[in-house]
Amino acid sequence: MEKPLPPLVPATLYLVATPIGNLEDITLRALRTLKECDVVAAEDTRRTGQLLKHFGIAKPLLSYFQFNEARRSEEILERLGRGEKIALVTDAGSPGISDPGERVVLAARTKGFRVESVPGPCALVAALTASGLPTEEFHFIGFLPHKSGQRRRQLAALKAFAGTLILYESPYRIEKLLGELTEIFPERAVVLARELTKKFEEYLRGTPVELLAQIKSRSLKGEFVVLIGGQAASE
Ligand code: SAM
Repeated sequence: MEKPLPPLVPATLYLVATPIGNLEDITLRALRTLKECDVVAAEDTRRTGQLLKHFGIAKPLLSYFQFNEARRSEEILERLGRGEKIALVTDAGSPGISDPGERVVLAARTKGFRVESVPGPCALVAALTASGLPTEEFHFIGFLPHKSGQRRRQLAALKAFAGTLILYESPYRIEKLLGELTEIFPERAVVLARELTKKFEEYLRGTPVELLAQIKSRSLKGEFVVLIGGQAASE
């Protein structure tokens, strides 16, 4: 007979990764954590409500997003103090990676509470591992600032980095980004990982100027991870 799984630990903050586009990517442990916790802190309670419903889970939800992080972190700490088991999820992927989470994790650790990661989908890992670019050394930038000058400065400062650079970008700014890469990294091998884990998943490869032409000709939409090969990968 299989051993029963250990119950969740009281007064613990669980960081639960959720699918980035394919519901089959939820892990068994994520489902059990969501079922057994006392409350789910969610970036978007409506969206997480739909996810829970899909898996037949009914749970009280607490909203936790970028602009109420400070206030909600206090509430989460109070709940942890009462011994509650709290699952934190974002709209997609791993909490804390270009998503809310960092602040409450630090606050919980500072107060001596347990924090456990329930790992799973993460767009940057999915994109990097299947990109064909070197995986040994990489630098994750997340989203660049919106202002042109700041974006260019941040990219230019990374020119000497030998490993793979990884960025998140919204579909509305992908052309702008490729224009910037054309100036700053004209010879580099770039991969656009689009719609990962979804029906129209694809990897587009080329120099920035080649990719810009492709994007324009097909008016591609959807979510993108942008990977820039280091000097060696582009030779
Ligand atoms: N926490 C998430 C993670 O673990 O990857 C990232 C959240 S961030 C707000 C959203 C960005 O991640 C998107 O703009 C896109 O750059 C990237 N992303 C998320 N899902 C993706 C997917 N299915 N395909 C490609 N990129 C994706």
